[in-house]
This record gives sequence, C-alpha cells and structure tokens, in this order.
Amino acid sequence: MDLSTSRAFEEYFNHMLHKAVESGASDVHIEPFPGVFQIKFRVDGVLRFFDKQILDTKRLERFAEVTRKMCGFDMGKDGKPLDARFSIPSLPYDFRSSLCPTMYGEKIVLRLLQKNKAFDLRTYPLRDDAKACLGRALNRSQGMIIVSGPTGSGKTTLLYNALSVIDRIANNVHSIEDPIEYSLPNLGQTQVTHGSLSFAEVLRSLMRQDPDVILVGEIRDEETARSAIHASCTGHLVLSTVHANSAAEIVERMEGLGVKRDLFLANLAFASAQRLVSKNCPHCTEDDPDSIPLVRAVFGDDAIPKRGRGCEHCGNSGIKGMVLLFEWLTRERDGSGNKVIKPHDSLLNQSRYYMREGVINAENACGTD
Ligand SMILES: [Zn+2]
Repeated sequence: MDLSTSRAFEEYFNHMLHKAVESGASDVHIEPFPGVFQIKFRVDGVLRFFDKQILDTKRLERFAEVTRKMCGFDMGKDGKPLDARFSIPSLPYDFRSSLCPTMYGEKIVLRLLQKNKAFDLRTYPLRDDAKACLGRALNRSQGMIIVSGPTGSGKTTLLYNALSVIDRIANNVHSIEDPIEYSLPNLGQTQVTHGSLSFAEVLRSLMRQDPDVILVGEIRDEETARSAIHASCTGHLVLSTVHANSAAEIVERMEGLGVKRDLFLANLAFASAQRLVSKNCPHCTEDDPDSIPLVRAVFGDDAIPKRGRGCEHCGNSGIKGMVLLFEWLTRERDGSGNKVIKPHDSLLNQSRYYMREGVINAENACGTD
C-alpha cells in the first residue's frame, strides 16, 4: 500500500480497522519500533501479526501523527498515558484507545466495543445453575454482587447482562464507571475521570439520589470499598468488580481494603471469578504428549492433552474461539438453618474438564489455577 500522503495513511488506518472487525479481534495493538510500525490483532485471546509497516523516519513520524489523530488523541500531552474514544461511520463499533509512551514513540492499543450491543443474561455463556444463582441474587433488594477476573475476561459484559434483567423503569439504576464501555436504556451512567472525580465521590453523591441498584465499575481503594459495602447493607443492590484471582480471594481482597469479613459475608449475594480461555482449533487438534508431565504436575493425572497444530482455519495459531470458566459463591442456609458461604465448582475443575475433553490445551488449562 502506498503510504506517501496523509490521506493514504488514513485509508490504511480505516482498512486496518475493517480487517480487525472482520477477523473478530478484541484489541488492536499499534507499536513503533526502530524503522517499523508493528500492528497486531488479539483474536481468541492470542495476539497475531496483522501487518508491519517499514517506514523511514519522516514517514514513521507522519504515521504516528495520523494514528494519534485518528484514535482521538490530539497530541500526546506531557507524554502521559491518555485514553480516548472514537468511531468511524462505516463500522458498528466504538474504539476505546489508550496511548503509552515507549522508547521508540507512542504505543496505541484499541479495544473494540460493539455499538448498541444487546444484553441478555439468558444468552450469556454461563451454566444454568450459575445463572439461577445470579438471578436469585439480582432479585434481592439489597446486598452485593461482585465479580472478578482478568482484564478482557468479560466482567463488564456479565454485569451489563445482569443489569439487563432488572426493571430499570421501576428502579433507579445507575452505573459509575471508568471508562463507560456500553449503554443500556434507562440506565444512568457516570464516568469517573482521572484526577477530578473518584468512584467514592460519585457514589456519595449518588446515595443522595434515591438509588435502588448501583453498578460500581471497580472497587480498588478503601473508601470505595467502604462506601459500596455501606450502600449494600442499607437497602441497595450493589454490583461491582474487584481484582482477585478466585471467588474465595474476593473475601480476602475486600478485607485488605478495610471491609470486615463478617460484614462483607453478611451482605454478600453472589461472588464469582471468571477466565476466558482460548479453545483448540477443531480442525487441527491433535494429541500433545509433550505436555503430559505438565498435566501430571498440576492435575496429578495421566490425561493426554490436545493442542491445535495450526491450519488455514485458525491462521496457523492452533486456537479458535474461547470458552468461559466460571466459579461462584453464594450465601445460603445449611441444614441447621445457619447462613453459610457455599462455593460452586472451581476454575481448576473446569479447566481440567475442558482439557480432558480436548477443548483447551494443557498450557491454558494449567494457567487457570
Ligand atoms: Zn486450525
């Protein structure tokens, strides 16, 4: 492609975004290195090369400038990481862009967000028993629903699916997010902005507005943790996310953020952890005896794992599609009528199951403990 003019750069950029959408990418990475711009797409959880543009210094600078402009950044202010958002009329997607200075220029990562995405808990890929527990938690008038999982594992999507089943006419439903990714009819949304408005500040002012259901995008500091738990025990249903590696670890994490264990557990309606794991390509999956020692070390059994060899169907990556692993805790009455925290399934169990079925490879299965 001729990249001698700004117009040509813009066309290239648009072409690249169309290709990203076509290939089902979740993210686009645009990263400068000496004499070259490297563009990768994340597809089914794995980064793949889309293109390399080998350019002289002048054209590299021009490419960086056009990319910044197209991604919604006017200029990289003070060299600080920046966030922006843009869309192009020919694609039903919003692109959330983030910029970070690197040794050789500015790396830009775009997250693809489907515009007007429809949310429906019934079609979310959760097991029926998990959906039933979540549904019961959503029927409560107060308490906390809290989910954890790595970035990109679908936590926000799960919470929006959860909000979609709540009557947002009869209830005052409001979200506080950083950044706002999706929208729902009759949902009030406030974006927390770096340096000026914190989750805790917005939550405080929201509490004076007679809320019923509150989505707090992330609990990451003590003040937010305390405000959220306070809201959840004073007649409000609070949905949120927290950084933790397992559903059980959520309790420890909240304790670490200054919330008393007993208080948290008394108000817990539902806590979950999830992972989105790449699946083996069904067209080229074969036995992977080399990984037997790894499987034996982690799971203690002699299952023969499978791995995609790479073929034309999977762009030679051996990976096609993703599967959601999910574990959750609920608070229920035991046989003697006491309320207890009950764990349901585990991420490790599920990864073992999918590995034995040949759905995921040993490496991905063993990385989910
Ligand atoms: Zn394949």
